[in-house]
Amino acid sequence: MSEVYEGLKNVVEQVKETCAKVGRDPDEVCLVAVSKTKPADMIREAYAAGVRDFGENKVQELCDKMERLPQDIRWHMIGHLQRNKVKFIVGKVALIHSVDSMRLAAEISRLAVLNNVEQDILIEVNVGGEATKFGLSTEETIQFVKEAAKLPNIHIKGLMTSAPYVEDSKENLPIFHKMKELAVDISKENIDNVSMNILSMGMSQDFVAAIQEGSTMIRVGSKIFGQRYYFNQGEQM
Ligand SMILES: *Cc1c(COP(=O)(O)O)cnc(C)c1O
Repeated sequence: MSEVYEGLKNVVEQVKETCAKVGRDPDEVCLVAVSKTKPADMIREAYAAGVRDFGENKVQELCDKMERLPQDIRWHMIGHLQRNKVKFIVGKVALIHSVDSMRLAAEISRLAVLNNVEQDILIEVNVGGEATKFGLSTEETIQFVKEAAKLPNIHIKGLMTSAPYVEDSKENLPIFHKMKELAVDISKENIDNVSMNILSMGMSQDFVAAIQEGSTMIRVGSKIFGQRYYFNQGEQM
């Protein structure tokens, strides 16, 4: 068995175990395999094992892989997105997780209209309030969603967050909890063109904690594909 297959199997088992523990249906939790920096061959292995959702954080890399890999893959843009790169992915990716400014939302909308496509998006929230992270504060999110919901050809499907790096993933439980509460609060507003079905939270280190608190989409990289190697080690953007 390949390493990718092993990793994937372990993650899927952990998802099932966690769901059983907290009384959730594992089908409610979508696994996005984060393939950034990893070669197409490894993606094909995960694809052969049944994975159809893949996440990338760089537009260029995402587009290269999109061209070379099967057409039925649902690509997720999970990294910080610059407005001048929206044109390369709008209408082509299943979901943009990282919408964190009105200017970006407006640009996605403008290009979606221009190309006559619809684009699903998530709003990125910096629940932990870390200075180094992208995302809106929890306080400003509801107002932002109300405004962005008015833009044509984009559809807000939920929220995304990246929790802080911690030794013990239990430390992130309050963050995931706060995120779920925020989504519930927004749902109660019944805003047109907004659903809060997707809570994109939980990575290799803390997807178990995230599922316990209601995550419906986990973004798992290294636990499936192995460690990533960067020239510049440290926080990856
Ligand atoms: C890299 C990345 C992940 C996956 O990280 P792992 O720790 O390898 O699971 C998830 N979300 C975002 C936004 C990322 O950039």
